[in-house]
Amino acid sequence: MYLIKSCPRCDKGDLFEDRDEYGSYAQCFQCGYVEYPEAVLPLEQAKAEQLNRRGRR
Ligand SMILES: [Zn+2]
Repeated sequence: MYLIKSCPRCDKGDLFEDRDEYGSYAQCFQCGYVEYPEAVLPLEQAKAEQLNRRGRR
């Protein structure tokens, strides 16, 4: 599915919806912006886990 000219970053890019291991996402052809409408970005989770490990020490 294509979302024409709905990229929040470059404002005129076309988003292409696809799926990966984290769920469905939309990527901009023009600037490479990636948006995960359904899943929370795993980066936040990874950061939280790192902090936990440091604190446990
Ligand atoms: Zn874009």
